[in-house]
Amino acid sequence: MKLKRDKHFPVIIAAFALMASASALSPFIHAHAGAWLQAESHSVKEETKPTGIAGKTIVIDPGHGGSDSGARGVNGLQEKEITLAVSRRLTAYLQQAGAHVVMTRTSDVDLATDEDRTRRRRHIGDLQGRLQVVRKQHVDAFVSIHCNAAPSPNWHGAQVLYFRNNVEGKTLATILQETYGRELLTTNRAIQSNRTLYLLKRIEGPTVLAEIGFITNPTEAAAMRTPAYQERIAFATYQALVRYFSDPSVLQANQMGNESDTEQDRSGQDEANDADVSDET
Ligand SMILES: [Zn+2]
Repeated sequence: MKLKRDKHFPVIIAAFALMASASALSPFIHAHAGAWLQAESHSVKEETKPTGIAGKTIVIDPGHGGSDSGARGVNGLQEKEITLAVSRRLTAYLQQAGAHVVMTRTSDVDLATDEDRTRRRRHIGDLQGRLQVVRKQHVDAFVSIHCNAAPSPNWHGAQVLYFRNNVEGKTLATILQETYGRELLTTNRAIQSNRTLYLLKRIEGPTVLAEIGFITNPTEAAAMRTPAYQERIAFATYQALVRYFSDPSVLQANQMGNESDTEQDRSGQDEANDADVSDET
C-alpha cells in the first residue's frame, strides 16, 4: 500500500482492557528474548498449547505474487517475496497451535485466471480469486499480509488496517497493532479504518490487513530480508491471534464496539478521496 496521508485514529476504549490483560496470555507464549536479528525460532510447546485458537480456521493472505510484485523497496526488495515468507512462518506457528490454516497462495503466483489476463482485469481477478478461497469454508479470522511503501525513505512502522464497520476487525487490529508496537521495529502508527479495500470490505469477522513495515525504509527493508525478522513478525502476528481467541476481554471489546458503531461510521468519512479507492495495497 502506498500511503498518501499519515492518519491516526483514536483507539477504542475497549482496547485498554485488552492491553491490560496482555499478561494473561504469558503462560501460553513461549518467551521471546534476545536480539531480534539473531536467528531464532519459537516453538509452541505441547503443554502450553493455547486452547483458544485450536480448531479455528484462519485464512492467511500473502499480498501480491506472480506478475504483481507489489511495492518495490530498498535494493530491489519485492513486497511479494516478503509477504509470502512471513505468511509461511505465520502458518507454521498457527498449525503448531492446532489451528486450521488456509493460505490464499503458497508460491509466487497470483490468483487471476487466464481470462482475467486476456480481459485486462488481472488485479481485480486476483482479488476475486482470493475471496473465492475464503468463501470455500467458514472462516474464523482473515489476515492479509502486505508491506508499505512511501516516497520518503523516512516513513516507517507497521500499521494494521480494518474495514470501518467491522467491530471484530477493529478489535483484532487493535491487538495486532499493540503487539507490533511491542515486538517489532519502532512504530508510532495507529490502526487505520478503511472503507474501500476489496477483501476487508467483503470478509466478515476478525479481518485485517497488516502492513508489516515500509520496504522503502532502509532499516525496515534490511530487517525484512532476514529470516530472523520475518520470524519475529510471524510470531508477533501469531501471538495477537492467540490473544484474540483466548482473551475473555475480546468478547467484551466486540460487544462494546457493536454498541458504539455510530462513532465508527464517522471515523471513515474523510477517506472518500483516499488512494485506497483504487484497492492498491
Ligand atoms: Zn501490498
